[in-house]
Amino acid sequence: MGSSMENADPVSLLKRVFGYSSFRGRQEAVIRHVMGGGSCLVLMPTGGGKSLCYQVPALLKPGLGLVVSPLIALMQDQVQALRQNGIPAAFYNSTLAAGEKDEVRRLARAGELKLLYAAPETLSIPDFRDFLDGLPLSLLAVDEAHCVSQWGHDFRPDYLRVAELRQSFPGLPLVALTATAEPHTQDDIRRRLGLEAAPVFASSFDRPNIHYQVTLKERGREQLLDFIRSRHAGHSGIVYVLSRRKAEETADFLSGRGLAALPYHAGMEAAQRQRHQDRFLREEGLVMVATIAFGMGIDKPNVRFVAHLDLPKSLESYYQETGRAGRDGEPASAWMAYSLGDVVQLRQMIQSGEGDEARKRLVQGKLNLMLGFAEAVGCRRQALLRYFGEAHPGGCGRCDNCLAPPRTWDATVAAQKALSCVARTGQRFGAGHLIDVLLGRETERVAGLGHARLSVFGVGKELKEKQWYSVFRQLAAADLLAVDLEGYGTFRLNENSWGILRKGREVQLREDPDRKARRESRQEAAPTAWDEGHAAAFESLRELRLRLARERNLPPYVVFHDATLREMVLRRPSSLAEMARVPGVGEAKLKNYAPAFLEALQRALPPGGS
Ligand code: ADP
Ligand code: ZN
Repeated sequence: MGSSMENADPVSLLKRVFGYSSFRGRQEAVIRHVMGGGSCLVLMPTGGGKSLCYQVPALLKPGLGLVVSPLIALMQDQVQALRQNGIPAAFYNSTLAAGEKDEVRRLARAGELKLLYAAPETLSIPDFRDFLDGLPLSLLAVDEAHCVSQWGHDFRPDYLRVAELRQSFPGLPLVALTATAEPHTQDDIRRRLGLEAAPVFASSFDRPNIHYQVTLKERGREQLLDFIRSRHAGHSGIVYVLSRRKAEETADFLSGRGLAALPYHAGMEAAQRQRHQDRFLREEGLVMVATIAFGMGIDKPNVRFVAHLDLPKSLESYYQETGRAGRDGEPASAWMAYSLGDVVQLRQMIQSGEGDEARKRLVQGKLNLMLGFAEAVGCRRQALLRYFGEAHPGGCGRCDNCLAPPRTWDATVAAQKALSCVARTGQRFGAGHLIDVLLGRETERVAGLGHARLSVFGVGKELKEKQWYSVFRQLAAADLLAVDLEGYGTFRLNENSWGILRKGREVQLREDPDRKARRESRQEAAPTAWDEGHAAAFESLRELRLRLARERNLPPYVVFHDATLREMVLRRPSSLAEMARVPGVGEAKLKNYAPAFLEALQRALPPGGS
C-alpha cells in the first residue's frame, strides 16, 4: 500500500479502506482543512470518529503521520485495528525490544509506514527526537489533547513535550483532538499548542444513544445488581468506585451473584491488571469494577453500561467515564448511585491531596457542580451539555428526569433570599459564608465584614444549613447563579438570577434526599424490526467472530463491530459484492473475513425464510 494512495480522494479512500460510505459530522471538514496544510482543534464526543480525522489525511498525504496517544497499553490495539484494515502502522514505546525499535525505524525511513503511534514521554528521548528529525512527517495528531491543560481534569506533565515538539516542527499540520474540554480548557489547549489562530471544529458533545440515570444510594451494591440484571444482563460494562478495596469487594459481590466480574485498580500487580484488561477487551459480557485507573483510551465499542457506585469528582470525569459506554452508537446506559457521604469522602480526599490552595478550591468547585448535576430536576443531558458550553433545549426523553420528573418544592422565595444575599455581600463569597449570613450567625468573618448589618442577615432560618447548601448547588447547576471557578468557587449573579430577583420567576428545586428509593424505570429502547430469528443469527455471527478473534489473538471488535454484525443480519447480503456494501466492511476485511460470515449468515438465515 505504502504511498500509492496519495492521489485518491477522501471519500473513495474511506470506502475502500474502512468500508464506510460517508463521513460523519465534521470529519470531512477537518480532513480537507488538514489536507490543505492547516492545523486545528477538534472537539468531538467519544465515538464521534476522531481517529479518521487524522488517519485519512495521513494516508492521503506523502510521508508519515505521528500520533501522540497517552496509553502505551492501548497503542498495540489501535495499531492492530489499523493493520486489520490493511494500513501500515506501528507504535514506538518502551515495551519494544531494541531490535523491534530498529525495525520500526527502518520501516519508517523506507517510507513503508503511514502512521506511527508514540506516547508523550517517548517524545523527550533524544534518540527518538533524532529519528524524527530525519523523517518526512506529514502531520502530528495529539489525542486526548485536554491532558496538556492544567485546567482540565486530567493534566499530564508529559504532554508538555508535545508543545515542545510543536515548536521544532512549526510548519507541520497539527490536529489536537479531545472529547472532554469545557471552554476554559479549550482555550488553554489552544494557547499551549500554539493553535490560537487555528480553527476549532466542534461537534455537539451530545451522546444521543446514552440514557442517563442518577439515583440515591441506599444499598448501593444491591441497587447495582438490580440495575445490571434488569437492564443489562449478559452485557459488557464498567462499574466505577472510589477505592481499591471497594473495587475488590464489589467484584466479589457480583461474582457471588453469578455475574462475570473482575476488579481493576492501581494497587494490583501490573501483570494481573493487564490480564483483566485483556479479558475485558476480548470477552463478551464481562463487568469490570474499577477505580479511575481503568478506562482512559479503552475503545471497546460495545460497552453497554457504565455505572458509578460513588460520585465522580467532576462533570468532566463523569462525562468522560460515562462516554465509554456505547461508542458503537447502539443504546447504552449511564447509571449512578450517590450519597452525601460520597461528597464528604471526596472533600477529604481533595483536602489531603496534593496541590496548592487555589488548585484545591478549583477542584472543590468542580465537585460542587457535579453534586448539583446529581440533584438537578431538569433534563440531565441539558445540564451536562451546558457545562461544556453547549445549549440544548432539554426534554431529551432519554434521562430519568425527563422520563419520570422528580418531586420538587417551590423554592422561589428561598432562591430570592440566596441570590439577594449574594448581591448584598458584593458577589465575592462562597456558600459557607453566605449561609452564615442567611442563618444569622455572627462569625468572626461576618462581624469583621459588617455583614450582620445587612438586610439579609438571619432571613433564612426556615431552612437548615444542609438545605441551603443544596439550594446553592442546585441554583448553580441550573445556571440560575454563576460559579466563578477562577475566583475559587465564589458566586456571581447572572442574567437568569436577575430574572428571579426582579421578575419573580418561579424556581422549583429537587426535594431533599428522602429515604424512599424510587422505582427504577425499566424501559429500554428495543429495535423494532428485530425479532428472535435476527437475534439468533446475530448470536451465531458473534460466536464466529469470537472464534476468529481467538485464533488470531485479537479482540473480537477488531474483526467486526457489533453494529456491523447487526447490519449483516438486517441486510442479509448473499454475495461478497453485497457484503462489501455493509458499513464497516473494507477491502481487507472483505477478503479476510467476509466469506466466513457470509456462510454463517446463510446457515443462520436461509434465503427465503424471514
Ligand atoms: P473516537 O476516537 O472519537 O471516540 P473513533 O474514531 O474510535 O471515535 O470512532 C468510533 C467508531 O465510529 C469506530 O467504530 C469507527 O470505526 C466508527 N466510525 C468513524 N467514522 C465513521 C464513519 N464516517 N462512518 C461509519 N462509522 C464511522
Ligand atoms: Zn432529558
